[in-house]
Amino acid sequence: MIKPNIYISSCLLGEMVRYDGNHKRSDLIVNQLQQHFNTLSICPEVGCGMAVPRPPISLVQAPASIEIREVAPPHRDHSSVMRRFADDAITSQPQLCGFISKSKSPSCAQDDTPIKRLELNGQLSTTRAISAGFFTRWLKEHIPFVPMIDERQIEQQEERHRFFLHSFTLARLYETLKQQPDNGLRLFHHRHRGLLLALSPNLFKELSARLELVSQAKQPLNFYLKVLGQILTSPFNVEQAFAALEKSSESLQTSQRSALRLIIRSLQRQDRDQWISLLFFQHLATLINQFKLEGLTETPLFMPYSSELLLADI
Ligand code: SF4
Repeated sequence: MIKPNIYISSCLLGEMVRYDGNHKRSDLIVNQLQQHFNTLSICPEVGCGMAVPRPPISLVQAPASIEIREVAPPHRDHSSVMRRFADDAITSQPQLCGFISKSKSPSCAQDDTPIKRLELNGQLSTTRAISAGFFTRWLKEHIPFVPMIDERQIEQQEERHRFFLHSFTLARLYETLKQQPDNGLRLFHHRHRGLLLALSPNLFKELSARLELVSQAKQPLNFYLKVLGQILTSPFNVEQAFAALEKSSESLQTSQRSALRLIIRSLQRQDRDQWISLLFFQHLATLINQFKLEGLTETPLFMPYSSELLLADI
């Protein structure tokens, strides 16, 4: 079974690496999610050589950029060293499929760390602005196709399933490329056609155009990954999903096609307002399991990530 490589903030795994010498262990991540991934623990602050415990740091607005500095004067600047650490974190994991990070951290947060301002009197003052943490910002800028989420967002069912979908799809891509270096990208594209069409038919056309350029080595893989990431974060639309399901049923054997069409009809009879989210796929996969439609459970459209995660009662 595929296990995506993901970074997880070390303090969420229970490691005592925080500035105050404590941790922020998440039971959900440690007890229920971690086992499904190839977990790479990462603490950017310790990775940059900071001690435990250490002086607190903060994001600080500089004229041309945001820096990461110690809160207490003389506000030592750790920006360059953390940029280098983030670069290493990217290059050392070329098959990274996700990052689960600690919220509100000046290094790891997704989008909720306050930015302070350095006043003429040498003190830091509070502003209303918020941002991703310094390390996470660097990752978002350089590998925007990698899904990222914090420990609070991952408690939300929809956001959690979106992260799984994205992360496992990337992992399948890397695995296919590993097994078939020459033809893997085309194979991945073909196998994921239904899923990607269900999420965004328009972007799928652009992705198909990019497929040729990357397959012929005229563009790097990231050229393809960028649009793939946009598709995997597209808003869910149930009409598109039904159209992709109908299309997929055409290539099935007669008995499976009939069973799938029965499932589609039963879903279409239900109130469509409830199918506003990716949980549509979860419900679909449950039905496919109930109907014992073997073969379909290996199709990414119907089983986009590990079934244990899909059915877990979190
Ligand atoms: S939030 Fe990030 S930088 Fe802070 S202790 Fe946790 S892993 Fe380390």
